[in-house]
Amino acid sequence: MDNLYQPIETQVLDIITETPTIKTLVLKPPHPIPFRSGQFMQLTLFGIGEAPFTPSSSPHELDTMEITILKAGHLTEVVHDLKPGDRVGLRGPFGKGYPMKKFEGKEILVVGGGVGLAPLRALLYALFHDLNKYPKISIKYGARNPSELSFRQQYEEWQKLKNVDFECTVDRGHAQWEGKVGLVTELLENTGIDLTNAYAVSCGPEIMLKFVTLKLLSVGFKPEQIYLSMNRKMSCGMGLCGRCNIGPYYLCKDGPDMNYAKIQVYPDVFG
Ligand SMILES: Cc1cc2nc3c(=O)[nH]c(=O)nc-3n(C[C@H](O)[C@H](O)[C@H](O)COP(=O)(O)OP(=O)(O)OC[C@H]3O[C@@H](n4cnc5c(N)ncnc54)[C@H](O)[C@@H]3O)c2cc1C
Repeated sequence: MDNLYQPIETQVLDIITETPTIKTLVLKPPHPIPFRSGQFMQLTLFGIGEAPFTPSSSPHELDTMEITILKAGHLTEVVHDLKPGDRVGLRGPFGKGYPMKKFEGKEILVVGGGVGLAPLRALLYALFHDLNKYPKISIKYGARNPSELSFRQQYEEWQKLKNVDFECTVDRGHAQWEGKVGLVTELLENTGIDLTNAYAVSCGPEIMLKFVTLKLLSVGFKPEQIYLSMNRKMSCGMGLCGRCNIGPYYLCKDGPDMNYAKIQVYPDVFG
């Protein structure tokens, strides 16, 4: 990255509507922007502002970059009105990314909530890229209702991969919904994961992260085995402005994916 402050002008190639509130931007940067899964970008809407988003595409496929965005407020509403051919800016990548070396040889439990599956999809692609390195990859995903399940067309293909299992649940079903109903924490009761050789990784709303963490601890995970995506409000992305710290850690620089053992002592971990 030459200049951390200079957005790279990037074309919106395509827009995929994932759910009524979530869209994926398929972006075509002028040159590949290498990133590690878990690292994030600052997306600039010229004249409007910028906000942090983690790519949802594979770190091994850099011709395009996908970013999956929930309509949450001022900037993301404008994002949802973008059209193919529009131009946006990208700065980054920022943050550390997941400790992929540490994950090698381990069973990986991936727990997503809502749009939280988007950042985790980059991790999934990275894990799938070296499938033989992981004895088991177990994906648990929860959304508010069936229409809010992101990437639905991919679940079958994920389930077919060697040593990968996928399970989802919704808070509220409907007459045609034949899947599970309940919170994602209910999928963590009997995962069949070997707790002596596993890491759990979770991304989702803060309240979900809290209860996922409590459940993981109650089924026997140790704090050191849990990584949480702390997607707090961030501004500079470089550890300069001090907007996103937990204790001595700047989430933009030391995270955003934090080992729970490092942050568990701070009272504001879950907001
Ligand atoms: C490292 C990182 C990675 C992220 N990755 C993604 C992603 O892949 N996809 C995605 O949809 N979102 C992601 N987010 C959240 C995204 O940055 C916010 O949703 C966005 O900044 C909201 O901007 P806005 O102007 O539309 O909302 P605003 O008008 O600023 O706020 C609207 C509402 O959203 C809340 N909000 C604002 N920022 C955040 C935040 N960072 N986290 C939680 N709530 C927030 C506000 O409190 C308010 O209630 C990520 C955040 C971080 C820090």
